[in-house]
Amino acid sequence: MTTFYPGPSKVYPQVRQYLLDAHDSGILSVNHRSGAFMEMCQKTLQLLHAKLNIPDGYTIVFVSSATECWEIIAQSFTGNEQAGFHFYNGSFGGKWSEYARKIHPQSKIHPFGLEESAHFSNISIAGENNILCFTHNETSNGTQLTNETLAAARNRFPGQLIAVDATSSLGGADLPIADADIWFASVQKCLGLPAGLGLLVASPKAVATAENLADRRFYNSFLSVRDNILKFQTHCTPNVLAIYLLMRVLESVENVSLIAGRLTEQALGWYGFLKAHPVLKPLVHNPAVRSDTVIAVAADEKTVSFAKQKARAAGIELGNGYGQWKADTFRIANFPAIDMQEINALKQVFLTM
Ligand SMILES: *Cc1c(COP(=O)(O)O)cnc(C)c1O
Repeated sequence: MTTFYPGPSKVYPQVRQYLLDAHDSGILSVNHRSGAFMEMCQKTLQLLHAKLNIPDGYTIVFVSSATECWEIIAQSFTGNEQAGFHFYNGSFGGKWSEYARKIHPQSKIHPFGLEESAHFSNISIAGENNILCFTHNETSNGTQLTNETLAAARNRFPGQLIAVDATSSLGGADLPIADADIWFASVQKCLGLPAGLGLLVASPKAVATAENLADRRFYNSFLSVRDNILKFQTHCTPNVLAIYLLMRVLESVENVSLIAGRLTEQALGWYGFLKAHPVLKPLVHNPAVRSDTVIAVAADEKTVSFAKQKARAAGIELGNGYGQWKADTFRIANFPAIDMQEINALKQVFLTM
């Protein structure tokens, strides 16, 4: 079965060998305060900086998931005098705001339309170190934040923190890391790995904010997570297998700017294909906000189930629609681990519809 599900998604084929190597190397049984672990941890962090173009001054920590990052941001980067300002147009951005508002009920939501860019011209934010929250790639509807939008937010709100959920784009998009303070993702999407590991990336300004807030109330308070990573350790016994697999995958892949170039080409291919298709259409019409990594396809409900059925008969799994788009869309992951042959096989299926 070939899967185009946008998370968990197809793992890189080389993961099979890496699993065996992990077992045979003995790393799975080492203590997470040992030299062997610390060496692996350090190497993985170096590879993350190098392959994902993460500036040297940014701190990278290991956590369990993107969902955990939603909570860490509210706990450790948002003061009681501050608020989160959540800009979103889909289910994941919406869920993040719900998690944040359980901890900081004063946080604000700024939903925007499917075909629109996030807009903030009419928003004023008093004080400093409030946190603007964006979803880089909204996995539920296949929209994407443009680099221009993020740069505009950075310019307009220089005294605030900017946090970006890049769960379905980190590893597949060349993200403008320096234009935001916190980035996070889990590994089961564009990094082509099994689920069970999250990454949080923090700018020097974000780290300074966390130090001022001095939250150490929780096991996963950012400062204790950070204290440990400075020693190439983790705050709890981590998913050592996942970190090992991440290290091996990062060693084997090209720099993300090359990967992103390929995915953009493939995405243009998908959107062109759908434009010409008699019954399947792109959900998003505005090319400026269409995702490169998750292609959302719209059709009537019957056609959606027919497409899934035809794909399944050809040994291909499509991603279900999500949230309000559940019935009349399906999603196609355009993640780096998926190869051209698989994409062409899926196009063949659609050509018979
Ligand atoms: C998948 C996803 C999440 C949740 O990831 P978990 O690993 O389940 O915590 C959050 N945000 C976005 C944009 C996602 O695509």
